[in-house]
Amino acid sequence: MSIHVTFLGTAGAIPTNQRSLPAVLVQRGNEQLMFDCGEAVQRQMVKAKVGFHKKLKILITHMHGDHVLGLPGLLQTMALMDRQKPVQIYGPVGVVQFLKCLQETLQFALTFEVEIHELSAPGIVCDEEEYTVTAALSNHVVPSFAYCFAEKPRAGRFHPEKAKALGVAEGQAWSKLQHGETLTMADGRKIQPADVSGPIRKGRKIVYTGDTRPFAEFAGFAAGADLVIHEATFDDSLAEKALVDGHSTPSQAAEEAKAADAKSLVLTHVSARYTDTSIFLEQAKKIFTNASVAEDFLKLELPLPE
Ligand SMILES: [Zn+2]
Ligand SMILES: [Zn+2]
Repeated sequence: MSIHVTFLGTAGAIPTNQRSLPAVLVQRGNEQLMFDCGEAVQRQMVKAKVGFHKKLKILITHMHGDHVLGLPGLLQTMALMDRQKPVQIYGPVGVVQFLKCLQETLQFALTFEVEIHELSAPGIVCDEEEYTVTAALSNHVVPSFAYCFAEKPRAGRFHPEKAKALGVAEGQAWSKLQHGETLTMADGRKIQPADVSGPIRKGRKIVYTGDTRPFAEFAGFAAGADLVIHEATFDDSLAEKALVDGHSTPSQAAEEAKAADAKSLVLTHVSARYTDTSIFLEQAKKIFTNASVAEDFLKLELPLPE
């Protein structure tokens, strides 16, 4: 199953000519998970050609305008497009009231159901058949969550020749072993899935920090992530300001990715004061080599690990 990550908005606080407000879309097969929902996100979606009718979860990190003001516009656009599938929205306390006020004052009708899940504590946010999303409390100036999308481990690669050698007939018996069931043969022998398949294969893991200072639990939360999407609002020379405003610098984000032993790091939520982000890259790469700075519409593919 393919996973593509599209950066729909990579600005912090104020949009610029080059950067729209925060939103990152993870597309896994036919399903989408959107992390944060900055203003004008639906226009970014049109440009990125990601569609408006797919299965969709929206995960809001915190109730700052740059991260949530895209919700009303996006929901209305989807209704005008006659969306039918429900949308699930997850976010901190306040998200229910926010959407209720909007709907009462704007009086917009929706063509689909909106399920809102208000999160009062960190932990598992959703547990689907093939993946989970977990939230950790991050360290911003208001309550804020970082999110971790993690695929569940997949069964090991099936080896038909091993099954044949053990006398297991092709068909239903193979299917049972592939689905993790133990087989009892007519002669009483038990065949375990591990007898006919390779080692369990790891799923992919993506961590999105939202706005945050570095925080102690990060390394454990993001351990071994394939991709860490970390905010870096200001460059290292403004570390003091980052601390006061509840943000991170490229070096801090790189230290976090390194501590988590992540495979790659992408910086986002760039302050409007920067048109050139080469300094971000320079500062991050000193600590974590596989770092880059997101641009709007950057699209990454995360291949399945073997
Ligand atoms: Zn922000
Ligand atoms: Zn914020």
